[in-house]
Amino acid sequence: MQIYDVIIVGAGITGLNAAINLPKDKKVLILCKENSWDCNTFYAQGGISVAVDENDVEPHIQDTLKAGAGLCDEKAVRVLCSEGRSAVNSLIEKGFEFDRDEEGNLLYTKEAAHGRNRIVHAGGDATGREVHLFLMQNNPHPLMYKTTVVDILHKDDLVYGVKIFHQGKFKNLYSKNLILASGGIGALYEYHTNARTVSADIQGLALECGCELRDMAMTQFHPTVFINTDKARKQLLTESLRGEGAYLVNEKGERFLLDYDKRGELSPRDIVSRAIYDYKQKHKGDIVYLSFKNFEKGFFKKRFPTIYYNLKDFGFNLPEDRVPISPAFHYFMGGIKCDLDARVEKFKNLYVAGEVANTRVHGANRLASNSLLEGLVFSTRAVKHLLKHQENFPHIEFEEKSEILIKNNDKILKNELRHIMWEKVGIIRTKTKLNMALKRVNEMLNMDIGKLLRLRLKVARSIIEDALSRDKSIGAHYMKKE
Ligand SMILES: Cc1cc2nc3c(=O)[nH]c(=O)nc-3n(C[C@H](O)[C@H](O)[C@H](O)COP(=O)(O)OP(=O)(O)OC[C@H]3O[C@@H](n4cnc5c(N)ncnc54)[C@H](O)[C@@H]3O)c2cc1C
Repeated sequence: MQIYDVIIVGAGITGLNAAINLPKDKKVLILCKENSWDCNTFYAQGGISVAVDENDVEPHIQDTLKAGAGLCDEKAVRVLCSEGRSAVNSLIEKGFEFDRDEEGNLLYTKEAAHGRNRIVHAGGDATGREVHLFLMQNNPHPLMYKTTVVDILHKDDLVYGVKIFHQGKFKNLYSKNLILASGGIGALYEYHTNARTVSADIQGLALECGCELRDMAMTQFHPTVFINTDKARKQLLTESLRGEGAYLVNEKGERFLLDYDKRGELSPRDIVSRAIYDYKQKHKGDIVYLSFKNFEKGFFKKRFPTIYYNLKDFGFNLPEDRVPISPAFHYFMGGIKCDLDARVEKFKNLYVAGEVANTRVHGANRLASNSLLEGLVFSTRAVKHLLKHQENFPHIEFEEKSEILIKNNDKILKNELRHIMWEKVGIIRTKTKLNMALKRVNEMLNMDIGKLLRLRLKVARSIIEDALSRDKSIGAHYMKKE
């Protein structure tokens, strides 16, 4: 029987960066759903935030803490910002090419709530795709795709591997260590920017294994998303656009954000999201647009090629045309609680990193572009810890059969859940709406449903319960008094 040294669940920046840092002679297996590029990393546009030099580490820490609205763990933030530079340099040393000016200097852009330009990017607005390709090309370990992890094999304080569903069959895969790098929870919401593979099942499994989920109410909404498509994943319009001069207008072409916050287009994304939501509520039927009038065509096409061509497919001619936008769910600050070596308290050999994890590095609100950095920094720390603490864990076998994953009515209920999460657990929350959501989620949990829906519902319930436990608004969690 094959026993791997390490199984990694997820092939985004976190899983692949862990893989390329694990020596070639280790028996490592990476698992992912669908195709390897079906992950949030692939769609990341803006870039990676990183202190531009040693002097910028402290300002980066302070900007991150400020965005986190008092809920960050300062130690975690210090690790992120101080080790961020070496994580990004390590990519460059391995041969990754960020965008540079004609003299070869790194180009840094600015995003909301950063005190200065400190976002490195690649391929213009295709940073995620470029990083993903690079990590895939440099990964020395096998990757099994179209594979869904449906259980974590565990007993007492050890994990033993995972149960997978692959090519219509269940199978147990055994390993001495497990790294969960399975991303966030996008598919829980009706409108979201996430890859279709990112659907909260691993958070649900962790919960069922007795791991603690933390800060679950902290869901971040992106203000500028083109949602008029029938695809589940909606088209994001990166924040760098506003950072570099795009602005929001109403149907008459008037700007209105300055009425909400003096920072206008550069306000943190939750403020912009709420402003748009509120503006639309107050001006029923009005459409809000992102205008690119400040851009020169040649520059726009070179700087934002992905957006230029994606929106062209939808019939927009940028930068001349304005694009109707809405906020949508985007990023999850909550997750599986772990320490700064990415370890989960309950199990000696379980690591979690990236968007699935909660180190409190983002607190109540993530500073733009800190998440790719988080994936790099904490997967590197997980691997360092794992290699230093290799123990001879015992091996035991688990039965291969599994409960039914999907039942007949699940699709209808899944869509209902997504609607409930958007309407009642979304940008502006009230006790009444949250209680209504909780009641219906509990009803659904008592129905005859498959395992995957149950996992989603349990994660949704922990988001709602955490939201209900917080009377006051904090960061991305906004409670309106009734
Ligand atoms: C449109 C968009 C733009 C963004 N732009 C930026 C940006 O500019 N800068 C920035 O810092 N952040 C950005 N973000 C956020 C950032 O992309 C993510 O936080 C980050 O990529 C998460 O990386 P990850 O490796 O943790 O997870 P992901 O990249 O999402 O990878 C998750 C992996 O887990 C696998 N998986 C999930 N469940 C299972 C399962 N049950 N079984 C097997 N495999 C499973 C998936 O198949 C996938 O391979 C953006 C996000 C989106 C959606």
